[in-house]
This record gives sequence, structure tokens and C-alpha cells, in this order.
Amino acid sequence: MKRLAALVLCLLVLAGCAQTPAPSEITTSTTAQVMPETTSTTLKTQTTTTSETQTTTTAAPPEPDVTITLGGVGDILLHSSVSRSCKTDAGYDFTRLFETVAPLIRSFDLAFVNQEVMLTGKVENYPRFAAPFEVADALKWAGFDVVNVATNHSLDQGEKGFLSCLDALRQRDLVTIGGAASQAEADEETIIEVNGVRIGFLSYTYDFNGFSLPSDKPWMINQIEEGRIRADARSIRPKCDLLVVSMHWGVEYSHDPSSRQRKLAQLLCDEGADVIIGTHPHVLQPAEWLESANGHRCFCAYSLGNYVSGQTRLAAMLGGILELTITFSPSLELKSIEGGIIPIVTQYEAPRTGHRVYYLSQYTKELADAHGISEEEPDVVMDPDALTELAQRVLGDYLIWES
Ligand SMILES: [Zn+2]
Repeated sequence: MKRLAALVLCLLVLAGCAQTPAPSEITTSTTAQVMPETTSTTLKTQTTTTSETQTTTTAAPPEPDVTITLGGVGDILLHSSVSRSCKTDAGYDFTRLFETVAPLIRSFDLAFVNQEVMLTGKVENYPRFAAPFEVADALKWAGFDVVNVATNHSLDQGEKGFLSCLDALRQRDLVTIGGAASQAEADEETIIEVNGVRIGFLSYTYDFNGFSLPSDKPWMINQIEEGRIRADARSIRPKCDLLVVSMHWGVEYSHDPSSRQRKLAQLLCDEGADVIIGTHPHVLQPAEWLESANGHRCFCAYSLGNYVSGQTRLAAMLGGILELTITFSPSLELKSIEGGIIPIVTQYEAPRTGHRVYYLSQYTKELADAHGISEEEPDVVMDPDALTELAQRVLGDYLIWES
């Protein structure tokens, strides 16, 4: 169960119920990191003063730490084959794509997803993707809260397609990041309060695959631009206790973060980001801790790979679920971020139908033998051991398994 209290200063309000930490949140300490934090001086001073006053006047026992869980998945890359897999007599039902992982996603206090393809009500394939609105129903059903819409495919269906996607997601009470329907919206900051912790979100994409933002609406989707990122981070950082940044970046099919990714990640760390969630390369990339000159530390997952796709490369079948447990002192000083990335596998049968997602830990030789990828690419052989080896090689100490 999750608790989402108020969304302040910004787009939407989320509500939920009391938090009960899931077992998975307790067992992900193999990659525990404890980090100092230097943020939000004014607000934290206020909180500390309140706490001290209570201690001296009531002699109350020390307040407990505050813990939240943050989850995230990569690209919902809806080739027309994936949408066709989810076709029903009545329309579309994409919940099949999330059945395996929905219990985990719902257990997170806050869950992020990258909606790579815009939802317009149509089904179109690369290079101008479009997918049905029912995808938004499935995202909500699965337990996602925050949806990134700043991708290189944001403008595949033009301004109209982008705005229809934004509208469809918001109608399901999903918080969208990375884009806006008006200048006023673009000027608002997204800060979501969970268990009293204010979580700020920023989001940027590297490009729009050759399309351009409308000349009169340069604010519509956030593009990576260092000056703009610095300004946005400096504005939102003092207003939140945790700063999470979605970056749609990197080189497709490369397991290695590019020099550009590393430079931008360091810039974000220097500007006070606590967590970076990377998407776009369609394959997993490593995670690591970055540190600024003044000692601020930032956890960067460079790419979570595809959540689901109709692609035909072996490495594109392997994605990850980011699972972080984040602990704050009673005065909301960030104390630690623990966790890592749980590997998942996209499964489909020939001819590219019946798409599903499995945890790699549950992915059997029988499933692998039945995978439709070898019909598409005879040289590609699905093998659970090879996928596990790849996940271990890329993620190293940050590879974790679901509980
Ligand atoms: Zn992309």
C-alpha cells in the first residue's frame, strides 16, 4: 500500500493510504549507501527548530526516521505488435503487460514510468509511434504515479498527439513530468509530498527525432540544455527534500554511458539532484554514485532499458525495475538511499504476439525456447543464463532480485 499526500505548487493532487513497507523494501540492503546531504537550508532549519521545541517541553521520545520507497521502470516502447497483443473485442487492455510486476509497483510509495510513445488513440509503428489511450488505464492499474512524457518520440504525432497523451494520463490522475499544455503549466514545479517528504521532479529529453517544438510553444516539452537544467535545479532544490531527475539520453543499444551522459549526470549532482533515472538506450546501463565538489552525492541509474517493446535484439529484452528505499532523519535530512535494479524480461511469441513481462529470476528455459525473437532474428537465442550474465555484468553490485 502507498501513501501519497499532497502535490504542492504544481499540477495534480494524489491521495492514498497508510504506508506499510513491503518485504522487498527491507531486503534490498546489499548495496546500502549512506550519504551526507546538503540541501534546503531554510526549510530544514524550520523543521529542526520545531523538533527541538517538542523535546524540551514534553520530553517525548526521539522521533523515528522517515522512510519512503521510490520505484521506476524504463521505456514503455509500444510497437504496433505490442498494441495488437493487447487488443480485445471491446478495445484494448494493456494490463497483461503489468500483471507480474503490479504488486511490486503498487508497493512503492512513488512509482515512475517512462511513456516513450505518445497515446493518441491510434496504433502506429516506428518512426511515428502512436498507441491507444487504454495504456494510461493500465499504467494507473499497475500502480504508477509519475509518468515521463519528454522523449524523442514526444512529437511523433505532432503537438496534437502530445497534448492528447498528456490529457489521457492526467484524466487517470497520473502526474506527468517533462511537458506542459500551457506556458503557465510549464512554469509550475512538480513537487509531490509522500510521508511528509517533498519530492521534486525534473525531466528532460535530448531530442525529438527531427521534429521541432512549435515555434510559439518552446515550453511544451523539456529539452536537455545545460543552462536551463541548472536554472531549474536551483529553483526547485530549496523547495524539496529529495530531487529526482528523469533524463531521456544516451546511445541506443549501448550498455556504456556516453561521455555526454556522464557530464550531464555530474552537472545534475553538482546542482543537488539526489536520484537520476535514465531512459532511452533500450538496454540496461550501469548505476553508480556521483559526488560533487562539496560532498553532495547522487545515485544515477543511467538506463533502465525497455520495460516492454516489440524489438528483436536480445539485450533489448532485458530491462530493469529501479527499487530504492530512502531514509530521512525526523527533520528530513537525507540519510541514506539503498537499493538497486531488479532485472525483467520482455516475452513474446512468434509472430511478435502475446507480449508479457517476467522477472528474470522467474524466466525459465521453457519460456526462452518459446520466445518469438528467434523467428525474427535466427541468430538471436534467448537464454536465461545469458541474460543473467548480462544483467550481472552491466549492473554489478546494483543488481538486486525481487523478494
Ligand atoms: Zn527514447
